[in-house]
Formats: sequence, C-alpha cells, structure tokens
Amino acid sequence: PLPLLVLGGGSNVILPAHFPGLVIHMQNQGFVVEGDQVRAQSGQNWHQLVAACCQQGRYGLENLALIPGSVGAAPIQNIGAYGVELKDIFISLKCIRIDSGEWETLSLQDCQFAYRESVFKNPASPRRLISEVSLKLSREPKLTLAYPGLQQQLAEQGLEPAAVSPQQVFNAVCSLRQSKLPDPAELANVGSFFKNPVIDAAQHRILKQRYPDLVSYPAGADFKLAAGWLIDKAGWKGERRGPVGVHNKQALVLVNHGGASSAQLMQLAGAIEADIREKFGISLEREPRLIDAEVGRA
Ligand code: NAP
Repeated sequence: PLPLLVLGGGSNVILPAHFPGLVIHMQNQGFVVEGDQVRAQSGQNWHQLVAACCQQGRYGLENLALIPGSVGAAPIQNIGAYGVELKDIFISLKCIRIDSGEWETLSLQDCQFAYRESVFKNPASPRRLISEVSLKLSREPKLTLAYPGLQQQLAEQGLEPAAVSPQQVFNAVCSLRQSKLPDPAELANVGSFFKNPVIDAAQHRILKQRYPDLVSYPAGADFKLAAGWLIDKAGWKGERRGPVGVHNKQALVLVNHGGASSAQLMQLAGAIEADIREKFGISLEREPRLIDAEVGRA
C-alpha cells in the first residue's frame, strides 16, 4: 500500500522534500458547546476553538491559546502550555482505525497521554484518523496561573488572580506568546524543538552549583529543566547555520529563514544536542515529528 500521512495543521511536523504517498489533510470544521463540554471536529482550527470557548465565559482552554494547528492534532502530542496539557481537559475522541476501517471511541486512559506523548505517537499501536474530540469546560473558575511569566503578565494589567475571566487569561497568554514565539506564518518553525529534560536531584544539585542561575522546577522527586535556558546558556540563541537558525527571542525554537531542507535542520539540531551533552551532560529529546518518506509516519 501507499505510505500514508495524516496532517492536521502541519505545525509540528518536519517533512521530507518529497512524499511519495497519500496525504490526508483533515478539513471537517466546527464545534458544539453542550453543557460542560465542547465537541469539536478534528479539522477545526485549535486557537479559534479556544477563543470561542473563552468568549462564552467557559474556563478550561485559556492557557492553550495560540497553539498552532488543528483540534485533531492536539491529542497526538498532548499539546501543553503554561502548566495545562490537553489531558487535563480531555474527555474522549472518535477515530477510525486505518487498518480495519472501524470506528472507535478512545477514553483518556486509552490515549496514554504523557508529556508531549500519546498512543498516537507509538509506532507499535494501530494507525488512526481522529475525527472528533470532546473536552471539559467549566463555568466556575478553574485556573492554572502558576507560571511566573503568566502571573507577571496578569499583574502588569492590574488583574487579581482570584477574579480573572477566561478571556483575560486568554489575552495574557496571547500577548506572552506573541512577545516570545515567532508566528509560523511569518518565520517557519515547529514551536519547541526539544522537550524539557527531567533530571534527578543529585544531577540537579551538581548543575545548580556550577550554574546558580539554572532555570529548573521541581517535578516530583526530580527536576525539570528549561531546555531553552540550556541552549541559550550554551550560546546558541540567534545563531544561524545557512538558512536555519535558533530564534533570537526563544532558544527552544529553531527557525527556517527560507529554503532550508530537513537535513539542514537536523544537522543544526544534532550540533545543539552534542553541545548540550558536552556542556551539561544532558541528552535533549526532539519534540516535533520527523516524517519518514518511506512509511509516512514519525
Ligand atoms: P516560559 O514561561 O518562559 O518558561 C520556560 C520553561 O520553564 C517552560 O518551557 C516551562 O516548561 C518551564 N516552566 C516555567 N514555569 C514553570 C512552572 N511554574 N512549573 C513548571 N515548569 C515551568 O515558557 P515558554 O518557553 O515561553 O513557553 C510557554 C509555554 O508554552 C510553556 O508551557 C511551553 O511548554 C509551551 N510551548 C509548547 C510548545 C510545543 O509543545 N510545541 C511550543 C512553544 C511553547 P513546560 O514546557 O513544561 O511548560
């Protein structure tokens, strides 16, 4: 059979120059708010869904504003920002199994969500075409405002965390993202290129002694490091290698200034990974999906 590639918004994939197969681009649009949930079609633009729910005064999606891509793409990598992940508001999804053509409804548990991971990224699990996603909404304030940048943004606008509306959080998230992250429509990028590494307390202690300004957050007994900080500290921010480079405002984002091949991008990623391993003893993991031209999946 032909290799098959399913695209949502195409905002988190690195494509080969030529794809010799069938590309399915989901175009089913729309969503309905029913009580305390919203049911959205997979081709629906994610940000517009978030905007509409916030405008209707429903809490739940506000931290996930301005994430590029479609509703159907959101579960693939369990999208997340400012302390909220899709899994926190996920109810279920409808999909078709590509091997058998059967319809399935997958629960939160079935999706096996983890940090930027899900069953859909697992090469051993059957391939599926997501058609519809149901998410939890709330009329009561349910806010996640722990992120320092988000708190600061709200404070600058004179807003009390206890009394903010979903629309106000939405606005704050939009301004924060617009100030730091390049718009993929203007400067090609796939958002965060690396996952934030988690290290144990012993390794954290050693690094913190060497770099007192290390940016890290407790994660259970371990610590999560900001990969962007490591890359910045290693001197990569704003660096260019021909047509590809590291964004000058956020070192976690690699950019294509125009005409780059995926090989050039991978070379840059490899050079950064080697440098971070040498300087900090940490192996960075890539976050976007690199599409294999032979089989059509990452
Ligand atoms: P930021 O607020 O400047 O923070 C830098 C990093 O520190 C973030 O990546 C975040 O990790 C971590 N962090 C900050 N406050 C934290 C807290 N209170 N507890 C735990 N960890 C904390 O973030 P940014 O780089 O501008 O990105 C904003 C948000 O959008 C982040 O959540 C980021 O993950 C998300 N984002 C995701 C993608 C993607 O998945 N493609 C692309 C761009 C941005 P976390 O990554 O765990 O949040």
